[in-house]
Amino acid sequence: MKPWTRSLIPAALTAATISALSIGVGAFGEAGHRVVGTLAELHLKNTRALAEVRRILRPNETLAAAAVWPDTIKDALYEDGETALFRLNHPAHDTYHYANLPFQSERYGLDVPGARPADVVQMARECIRVLRKGKGLFTQREALRLLVHFTGDMHQPLHVGNAFVSAGAPLQFIVPQGPTGWRTTLGGNSLVYGPENRFNMHSYWDSHAVNITMQQDDVAAFAARLMTAVTVRPEWTAQGDVDGWPGQWATEGLARAKVIHQGLTVISYLGPDDAKRTAHRWLIAQPPGYDEMARPIVRDQLAAGGYRLAAVLRAIWP
Ligand SMILES: [Zn+2]
Repeated sequence: MKPWTRSLIPAALTAATISALSIGVGAFGEAGHRVVGTLAELHLKNTRALAEVRRILRPNETLAAAAVWPDTIKDALYEDGETALFRLNHPAHDTYHYANLPFQSERYGLDVPGARPADVVQMARECIRVLRKGKGLFTQREALRLLVHFTGDMHQPLHVGNAFVSAGAPLQFIVPQGPTGWRTTLGGNSLVYGPENRFNMHSYWDSHAVNITMQQDDVAAFAARLMTAVTVRPEWTAQGDVDGWPGQWATEGLARAKVIHQGLTVISYLGPDDAKRTAHRWLIAQPPGYDEMARPIVRDQLAAGGYRLAAVLRAIWP
């Protein structure tokens, strides 16, 4: 979504993007992030954690609103009283939203290629540290808004698991070995399909899959539906200290990333886009029934994201 989105590909104008832009709500993928924030608040009713959240956020500011700030500020023209200093301290903030581990990896770890000291897992851990201890790389308000957002991002399958494609024939997804012979798909941003190759797999999972899962529901109605219709699963509860939870979510995300790459066919190599923002792109085809496979995954991921965000905040403020 820019709600789980990285800002890379302007060609990725889905119907959702266009309608979001036309009503002036900013970044696409937004719905998923708002659902995670709204659902967390439902789980946090009458808790100390929610009182602490209210103390840190502005009056009437919800976790859903907080969730979209880290994407909103990727727009260079957007300014508020807090963006200038944040951007000055964090010029690479737009790279905090993801890790690019090969989706074939069995687990997340800083020793796995694609993981970075400032990737989404490490930055979520830093947010947790700041909220627990009151100091660190971020202010408390920044840390809370970032944590809400990054929790959502980590439940989008292409924000942790990344596909790499062989540099020569046959074109296929491979685990990169050594410095050459492979190219990154940038979290699926470079895997394109549809009329004029206008759509890509990253925005499919950011926006399209969320839209076809929410159907006619708005954010509040969908979050309420998830709260009652999706049973909390034992595996949603992470183990050990809260500091280790983002890494556990990422490991689980890799399992999801394997599933969503299954059946995708790399048809041809396309080279850069017209604006030369991306060096390499590939035309891909989805297998039959891909949307039907995607819906339950999105539903469960959003439900798990909201539940886990609430759990983290309760662990920080028991
Ligand atoms: Zn993001």
